[in-house]
Amino acid sequence: MLPKWQTAIVKQIEQATPNTRKYWLELVDTTIFDFLPGQFITLDLPISEQRNKRWRSYSIASMPQENNIIELVIAKQKNGIGSVYIFDEIKVGDSLTLRGPQGHFVIPEMLNKDLFFICTGTGIAPFRSMLLYIEKHNLPHKNLYLIFGTRRQEDLLYKEEMIDLQNRISDFHYCPTLSREIWDGNMGYVHPIYETLCKNKQDATFMLCGWHAMIDEAKERIVNLGYEKKDIHMELYG
Ligand SMILES: Cc1cc2nc3c(=O)[nH]c(=O)nc-3n(C[C@H](O)[C@H](O)[C@H](O)COP(=O)(O)OP(=O)(O)OC[C@H]3O[C@@H](n4cnc5c(N)ncnc54)[C@H](O)[C@@H]3O)c2cc1C
Repeated sequence: MLPKWQTAIVKQIEQATPNTRKYWLELVDTTIFDFLPGQFITLDLPISEQRNKRWRSYSIASMPQENNIIELVIAKQKNGIGSVYIFDEIKVGDSLTLRGPQGHFVIPEMLNKDLFFICTGTGIAPFRSMLLYIEKHNLPHKNLYLIFGTRRQEDLLYKEEMIDLQNRISDFHYCPTLSREIWDGNMGYVHPIYETLCKNKQDATFMLCGWHAMIDEAKERIVNLGYEKKDIHMELYG
């Protein structure tokens, strides 16, 4: 059964990168908003007469914290009806209608294999939630890799936090890569990074999050490396 629609108040908005913002929402009908790291909520935005054309989903970027506040990270899409409405119309103090939590893209039950989080852009959101949760609950794990592709350094969402987490979580490797800027880190798309790390075909689980171009290519390349489809989990943004 789908969760019921609820009211949330926008508590804070912060520009995170040139085209993304963080939104903190407070669920007014509950004191604890319970969810699993990796799940998403759906906003009902006043952008169409037709209900299902008004719905836009967003991964929860914060971890469950025994309170009623969640953090979202949203990219403004050029000509995107929902995201342009969110950026241009939604202000602190506004009331929103949302449904959630939803989704099965969550931390695997057994963390007994290397785990690859592969994402582009705001696809980092569910992985931030999972990593904060893994740290807080000290979940035993093998290698954790966050392979995060974006265009420029200015687009590196949660960069400082990920560097800190790399120092705090043992065997966590933060692997950002840039496709449009020369810097002293990885350059190009996400794919060669996991292909190099998996050249010995160790046991691994892959979690992919973002838009279809990256996800379709990653799925194909991971299978070509010799992994099975059951080792690949996906959250497709569109
Ligand atoms: C489970 C789930 C979780 C999501 N979580 C997030 C999140 O945490 N943050 C976030 O910013 N978005 C997230 N999205 C995407 C979000 O729901 C919207 O699709 C997005 O905000 C664009 O909506 P829009 O109304 O602005 O664009 P629309 O007007 O709906 O889109 C116009 C067209 O452009 C395409 N499109 C839009 N953006 C891109 C892109 N970057 N690359 C390729 N094609 C694109 C759409 O598929 C569509 O065909 C998530 C989607 C799903 C299904």
